Amino acid sequence: MTTARNLIHPRDEIMSTMDRIYRYRMTTTSGGNLSIRDADGNIWISPARVDKGNLTRRDIICVRPDGSTDGPHPPSSELPFHQAIYEARSDIQAIVHAHPIALVAFSICHEVPNTRLFHQAHSVCGRTGFADYACPGSQQLGASIARSFAAGNDSCVLENHGVVVGGDCLAHAFQRFEAFEFAAKTLIKARQTGDIQFLSDDQLRQAADRSVDFETFVPDVTSAEECELRRQLCDFVRRGCRQRLLISTEGSFSARLSDTAFLITPTLQDRECLEVEDFVLVDGDRREAGKRASRAAAAHRAIYCAHPDVQSIVFAHPVNATAFSVTDAKLDVRMIPESYVFLRDVGRMAYGVQYGTDEEIASAVSARNPAALLQNDGVVVTGRSVLDTFDRLEVLESTAEAIINAQVVGPISPMSDDVIAQLVQEFGLDKA
Ligand SMILES: [Zn+2]
Repeated sequence: MTTARNLIHPRDEIMSTMDRIYRYRMTTTSGGNLSIRDADGNIWISPARVDKGNLTRRDIICVRPDGSTDGPHPPSSELPFHQAIYEARSDIQAIVHAHPIALVAFSICHEVPNTRLFHQAHSVCGRTGFADYACPGSQQLGASIARSFAAGNDSCVLENHGVVVGGDCLAHAFQRFEAFEFAAKTLIKARQTGDIQFLSDDQLRQAADRSVDFETFVPDVTSAEECELRRQLCDFVRRGCRQRLLISTEGSFSARLSDTAFLITPTLQDRECLEVEDFVLVDGDRREAGKRASRAAAAHRAIYCAHPDVQSIVFAHPVNATAFSVTDAKLDVRMIPESYVFLRDVGRMAYGVQYGTDEEIASAVSARNPAALLQNDGVVVTGRSVLDTFDRLEVLESTAEAIINAQVVGPISPMSDDVIAQLVQEFGLDKA
């Protein structure tokens, strides 16, 4: 997900990444620090004791190879461990350190979350490890963390402290950090939900090996309808990232344009930064030249072909619904009228169906059942418009969260068959 040449100044990259981590509630104002090593060996790092919510580009400190610094504040007190990691690993050029809630939960139980929950977390996080406790800011902490990175780990849980993640650029380090915290969050939710299933080497390979073979074409005309759908997809993908219904490295969102054509998210691009022109037009077995369609494009096409009433599809990883997807627990949405009217019954597709034959994934959803869990891969949701699909995704996630929370309030009383029959009649659900 890296570009050949990064033209963004380290100050601006640190600023925007810190802003994003803070917006996603993955750090407090005082905790966490980021750094970038540039081509000259300078380390650009966030400052000590400055409000993370109000950082300006002047606040970022440059530490030169000779140890002298440039900037209005002292560098982060954790500079020693950043320097120790860079010394231990010549391939790491950026580091994210923070105290995000789920990874801190693992950190205080001295456990490393198993990322074999999803192919995405497993491939993005790289090798994961653990570093023994030492006092913050000390050389001993630097030595402990550097040992773990020198052993080949790219993401490291710090005993009774938090997490450190490295990458070949800051965008990559951020993606690892986000994927690692997401895996930790999902595990915590899943442990409250049912028996967790982890992926085998074969299953991980199945996801890594998938590819889509599309011929390319250059579209000749662009309709106002296409422009409108591009704008809607752009808005809702960004909103989905903000609401944490989508993660930056995974998931796909599409909208139907005609009987055979649809627009879909590109692969290997940060979902939060997508622009209208980034969405890829797919028509039959051809895709727009010069762009790479999401690897789920064949699955989207199969669903559109089988269900003429479906106008929009999302494959997403909202944490609570995804927790159900990694366990054997049934997600029963017969809980409140909203959840049943919007979602009906939510089924489950076996692992790998979305990478395999076209027909099978199309059977995951229908007019009666617009949403389904995908074993160890989140959810698929369909709708009559982009808004309708997004709305159902939100309802699915809220319902899953309410059910997980209700287990400690419990016992849960789903709506009775009589109540369901009345809803079906009142809302005309049988005619759907
Ligand atoms: Zn810290």
